[in-house]
Amino acid sequence: MNFAKNVELIASPTNSGCIDVLVPRCLIGNGQDVLGASIDHEGLCPIKFKWSDGTISSIKGLKDSSKVPTEILLPRFVEPHAHLDKAFSWSRFPNLKGSYQEALAANLSEYQLRSKDELLFSIEKSLNLAFVNGIGAIRSHIDSFGKTAISDWDLLENVKTKWRKKIFLQFVALVPLDFWQTYEGELLAQKIAFNGDLLGGVIAPPFNKKRMFKSLLHLVQLANRVKCDIDLHIDESQSCPAAGVKLLLEVLGHVKNEISITCSHLSSMGLLRENAISHLAKKMARNKLKVVALPLTNSWLLGRKDRSTLIKRPLAPIFQLQKAGVVVSVGGDNVNDAWFPLSNFDPINLMAFSMPIAHLSPWDRLGLSPFTTSAAYMLSLQWDGLFQKGSPADFILLDSNSWVKALSERPKRKVVVNGEFLNELPNDKNSTLTNSES
Ligand SMILES: [Zn+2]
Repeated sequence: MNFAKNVELIASPTNSGCIDVLVPRCLIGNGQDVLGASIDHEGLCPIKFKWSDGTISSIKGLKDSSKVPTEILLPRFVEPHAHLDKAFSWSRFPNLKGSYQEALAANLSEYQLRSKDELLFSIEKSLNLAFVNGIGAIRSHIDSFGKTAISDWDLLENVKTKWRKKIFLQFVALVPLDFWQTYEGELLAQKIAFNGDLLGGVIAPPFNKKRMFKSLLHLVQLANRVKCDIDLHIDESQSCPAAGVKLLLEVLGHVKNEISITCSHLSSMGLLRENAISHLAKKMARNKLKVVALPLTNSWLLGRKDRSTLIKRPLAPIFQLQKAGVVVSVGGDNVNDAWFPLSNFDPINLMAFSMPIAHLSPWDRLGLSPFTTSAAYMLSLQWDGLFQKGSPADFILLDSNSWVKALSERPKRKVVVNGEFLNELPNDKNSTLTNSES
């Protein structure tokens, strides 16, 4: 199938176009645009879609039901939780047993020996892949507790600037929580706040409750003082269900908090009883906590027990959280490192693999939003990911006319950035772009 057959590029300006496509109804911002248009059983709506000067200029429902478009249009994706700094380090530091403890040990060894070139290799390879796969924004956690932390963050700032027009980047300093109470922690926090990035850390059992309370309280106070947000690896475990988030809520009862806090993982919360989940979820909603669920790494790492297959798996209780009003997105987490050997910064792959694990369906609004609008909200992006007149022409086109085919067949895709097709973008000498179709 010739993928370009429905594309009718207007000669000038180049970042304009008109195309007939299928769009998930729940991603169309203004219902007036599609009044009377049909919606198929997978929630896809046939649309005539126009853009001009990098902005959507018109969205109209197609009335002629005899001509069904052959492509699905989606916003460029947002990856709410990545680890660009260690991606593709598997060959240097594998973890063949696949357990959390062994991943942690391999990660620490890798971090101690990580050179600037290796750091840059991981980041650049990840960004190039993410870009051609249709990702437009990434929040990445960065190991930041060693002697090289400050110089690593200088390098990250350069990367952020260099990639600014292609991928919006947001970084989170990943450190042991106590680190924020040190002089080095204070310096790093100020630098991070200045750059608009986030403070992070890990809360996983077993922990000393009194000491952890003190560390968390200090972190929340510090983040409010320097005015930057927090994203924590919390309760990535199969034991002590939700112990970390319960402690976080206790801390929030002692301090005035005005910054945004994201709970990444929250896996063990899914092991609580139903009414305890519901009670906790409501409390989280009242405290405006956000959640990034990470089904792939949770399924791979957690609860391993020699030759005994665990049936009840730890995973953030996505539906119950959504029901309580907590915004939940789904992220990819690790790529080809000691924590997770597979994956490749492909958002369609992420959907195809995490949907069966988490029982999310792309034709349900709340099944699709964790991959689209909620992820955009998580990163406080200017564009919420809904298509309407005036929104940026930042999208991907999948050569497929159904969700089931799109998630099964690895369809060809085209990426449009600021109204221009990726293979038509001017070459950037600083980064080696390879179109996934070439
Ligand atoms: Zn992570």
